[in-house]
Amino acid sequence: MTISAKIIIPFMFLLAILVAVFTYLLVYTNRSQQLIDHQISDARKVTELTTELAQLRAQSQLSLFSYRFNNNDTNLAVIARNRTINDHLIAALHTYIKTETGKELLAGFEKSRPPLQDARARFIRAMQSGDEQLMKKAYYIWQIQADYSGASLQDLINYNFLSVQRSELMYKDLSLRIVLLTISVAIFMIIFIILLFFYIRSILTVPIREISFAARMIAAGDFDTRLTIHSRDELGQLAGNLNSMADKLKQYYKNLQNEVRRKEAEIRRNKAFEAQKDDFMSIASHELRTPVTSLKVFAQLLYKQAEKEQDSGYLRYLHKMDEQINKLSNLITDLLDITRIQSGKMPLNMKLFDLNTCLADIAEVSNQLHKNHTILISGKARQRVYGDEDRIVQVFNNLISNAIKYSPGAENVRIFIANHRDSVTVSVQDFGIGIDKKEQKKIFDRFYRVTKKDEATFPGLGIGLYISAEIIKRHGGTINVKSEKNKGSVFSVTLPFQPAKIR
Ligand code: ADP
Repeated sequence: MTISAKIIIPFMFLLAILVAVFTYLLVYTNRSQQLIDHQISDARKVTELTTELAQLRAQSQLSLFSYRFNNNDTNLAVIARNRTINDHLIAALHTYIKTETGKELLAGFEKSRPPLQDARARFIRAMQSGDEQLMKKAYYIWQIQADYSGASLQDLINYNFLSVQRSELMYKDLSLRIVLLTISVAIFMIIFIILLFFYIRSILTVPIREISFAARMIAAGDFDTRLTIHSRDELGQLAGNLNSMADKLKQYYKNLQNEVRRKEAEIRRNKAFEAQKDDFMSIASHELRTPVTSLKVFAQLLYKQAEKEQDSGYLRYLHKMDEQINKLSNLITDLLDITRIQSGKMPLNMKLFDLNTCLADIAEVSNQLHKNHTILISGKARQRVYGDEDRIVQVFNNLISNAIKYSPGAENVRIFIANHRDSVTVSVQDFGIGIDKKEQKKIFDRFYRVTKKDEATFPGLGIGLYISAEIIKRHGGTINVKSEKNKGSVFSVTLPFQPAKIR
């Protein structure tokens, strides 16, 4: 059964009970009211009739006395007429008296009347006979019968009065019943609503609370949490779905943990391998340094000897040899720098130096070495810069030689110097092959080279920018690149004038 059905059914039940109770109340009060009204109107009628009867009786008695003392025959006519009216009134009374007691009393009254009439007739006859003795006796009997008849009429009147009182009592009883019924219905409603509250709580609030607790537990990573709601409604389905989700998550989590463990082992292996590689690079570059230095010394000795002997052929070869030895030496220096950076042991000789002179010297040497490119400098650093001059020269050498290397068709490399409040920015601009947007971040990584088919011709190891970025970082400065493919690149280095927090 759905939750809405589970909630609506008890409410419908409650509504049905309320409608039944109020309909019953309406019908009951209506019927009772009709009954009471009827009884009251009957009683009123009986009162009218009995009053009339009492009046007629009094009038008849008066007429009889009057006849006795005045001997007036009209009195007898009145008595006779009153008798007829009496009969009509009694007949009418039958219509309005409905209870057994009332009927009995009426019958008693009716029974008392013929003897009264007989006694009255005998009394009239005795008066007409003139026999005083007979008259006294007849008068005495008439008196008794009259009292008896009067008493039974009084009984009837009393009874009627009582029935009016009974109607009043019925009315009070009815009001009391309505009040009691209303109170009972109210109590029933309160109990029902309390039960309904607990019922709705048990089918709705309790499971929802359980589900949200379980969801929180699962979200917190406890995948063993399971719900025990088995109802066939939406919440039961939700609990089932949540349980199967927890099952799946547990499985995924287990797989993920295995994967993480596998990757961690792989990373550990790679790290060990990297460490081995770094060790090898460090040892190899150190070991290479001495023979290369010796080679350079011997080459210079040979060069001097050849100069003495004026042997131009030897001199040419020795010059080329010196160039290659220099390249090798630079390479070894770079490799050594990498190992120094890796081990966090790159010492910086910090002092204030003149950046303008540095850049002018680099430009001059470069202009002599690379006749196809001209280095143009715009602007001047406002003040001296605090840093390791050799290292900064190394950075700009690298940036300028890259600018020349990667712009084979261009003529110029421009250097712009811009001052800020606490720092200076040197931008090296070339008009060469440029760098793809997605490559621009990666070129500062160790050994990263943009190796496209058309760039395979540019020699290099992908370590210059890595070392430059590390040097600038350790000076508390920044280095970044803006470049557009086939239009050129701008490498900007910002250095603080004053000692910065050296890393
Ligand atoms: P490399 O010895 O390869 O030049 P770098 O670390 O100096 O090593 O440069 C890394 C890569 O960045 C280069 O291989 C090159 O693809 C790209 N690069 C550096 N400077 C420039 C530039 N001025 N123009 C275009 N590409 C450049």
